[in-house]
Amino acid sequence: MDRNITVGVVAVQGAFEEHCTALDKLGVYVREIRSPSDLLTKINGMVFPGGESTAQGKLLRESGLFDIMLQMIKDGLPVYGTCAGMVLLAKHIENDERKHFAVMDITVKRNAYGRQLGSFMTTGDFGGIGKIPMYFIRAPYISSAGKDVTILSRDENGAITAAREANMLVTSFHPEVTDDLTVHSYFLSMI
Ligand code: GLN
Repeated sequence: MDRNITVGVVAVQGAFEEHCTALDKLGVYVREIRSPSDLLTKINGMVFPGGESTAQGKLLRESGLFDIMLQMIKDGLPVYGTCAGMVLLAKHIENDERKHFAVMDITVKRNAYGRQLGSFMTTGDFGGIGKIPMYFIRAPYISSAGKDVTILSRDENGAITAAREANMLVTSFHPEVTDDLTVHSYFLSMI
């Protein structure tokens, strides 16, 4: 499709390889981001993968990436946060003292489905585009969202599981572990 677009995939921890594969299938260039030098040439979008938000926040600060990324997001770079990535972008975290980028006007609850129901698969509508497989792994959900946030999906109990605000897209679930490219295509349409 568009080899003029480069998407950075944050690769300090977690499930970044699966995002690279999904984006590659959609025909864009992918660059793994591990240190500030990986951001010296332009990227058109950035993905924060699932994993462990506390560990990721720590590694991003230690590597010197944190402040650079925060400025890029504030300057309008399209970003997509999956699961732990959503926790990193949230302005408020219900059950954690820490905050990370705190740029998106959402409150998230970490490990919101409990530890016993650690991971499960369901299907649901995404953004009115259609039903897609939704794979949850110790996932957070969005317990409240500000007025400028567009809700893109909810779980069976009505909790918000995907949303967008301006240049920021987040999902509780992991589309990168399925073959469905709907969410990644949606993200590329934001670029
Ligand atoms: N529970 C993790 C966190 O809050 C996220 C889990 C995931 O990304 N699969 O960091």
